[in-house]
Amino acid sequence: MRITRAAGAFAGIAIAALALAGCNSGSPTSPGGDAETEGDDALWEVASDVSLEGSPTFDAITERDGIVVGVKEDQPNLGFLDATTNERSGFDVDIARWIAASLGYDEDKIEYKAIASTNREQSIVNGDVDYYVGTYSITDDRKNQIDFAGPYFITGQGLLVATDSTIESEDDLSADTTVCSATGSTPIQNIRDNYPDVPTEEFDLYSACVDALINGTVDAVTTDQAILIGYAAQYPDDIKVVGEPFSEERYGVGLAKGDDALRAHINDLFTEGGDVWQGIFDKNLGDSGITVEQPAVDAY
Ligand code: GLU
Repeated sequence: MRITRAAGAFAGIAIAALALAGCNSGSPTSPGGDAETEGDDALWEVASDVSLEGSPTFDAITERDGIVVGVKEDQPNLGFLDATTNERSGFDVDIARWIAASLGYDEDKIEYKAIASTNREQSIVNGDVDYYVGTYSITDDRKNQIDFAGPYFITGQGLLVATDSTIESEDDLSADTTVCSATGSTPIQNIRDNYPDVPTEEFDLYSACVDALINGTVDAVTTDQAILIGYAAQYPDDIKVVGEPFSEERYGVGLAKGDDALRAHINDLFTEGGDVWQGIFDKNLGDSGITVEQPAVDAY
C-alpha cells in the first residue's frame, strides 16, 4: 500500500513525499533494481554528431573521447556500486548516463569516479570530473565555486533511527542524542546552525553513519529522506525513517563554473525529456515509496 504524506512545512512544493509506512516491512530488497542496463535503450538513445559550441567541458570530452562522471556509490537506489557484480545502478547514475548519451557517449565511454560530499566542489573545480550527479543540493554557497544544471529532483532532510528508538522527529533531538551525517553536506550544516546543542558525528560516507547507527554508537543519521529510505530498505529489521522532511533539497548536476553551453544543454535535456525522467524514476525509485514529480529547471 502506498501512503503519501504531506511534506510538512514544504507542502505545496513538489518535494519527495515518502510512504514511510511501507518502508520497514517485508524482506530486504537488493538495492538499485536491475543492475543490468539492457533496458536503458528503451529509455534513451545515444545521440550522434553532437556539437556544443563554447563548452570547454565538451571540448575536453571530445579530445579524450570519453566522459568522466562524479557519482556516489554507497547510496542504494540513487548511486550504488554492487561490489559483487561491479554494476552501477540508481536514479542518479541513470541521470548521468542519460546526459552522457545526449552528448554522444554510451556506457563503455563513461568513467565513473566516486567522490564524497565534501570533495565535490573541488573535484569539479580541478576538472577531475566533467560533471557530477550524486544527491547534490543546489546552494548559493556552492554556486560561488561551480554551476548547477537542474534541479532534476527535490527531497528534504530526514532522520534515520533504530527501529526501537524513541526519536520520532527532529523535535526529539537533544544534547543526549548524537546525530551522524556526512562531512561537507547541507544536513550536517543544518544541525549545526539550527540544533546547536545536538552532538554530531561525521564521516565522509553516509554508509559509515548507517554502520554507526546499527552498532549503536550514534542515535540518528540525518540526510535527505530519499537517501535514508534506501538504507532503511536494506536493513528493515534494524533501522527506520521517521518524521517529515525538515528542509528542501533541490538536486542539481554539478558543472564547471561558466560552462553555460553545457548547463543549457542539460537543462534543455531535462525540460524536453519528461518521459525519460519518468522512466528513470520508475526504474530506480518506483518501488521505494518515494513519490515526487519532475521539477521545472531553474535556468538562472
Ligand atoms: N543533498 C545534500 C547535500 O548535497 C545531502 C546529500 C549529500 O551529501 O550528497 O549536501
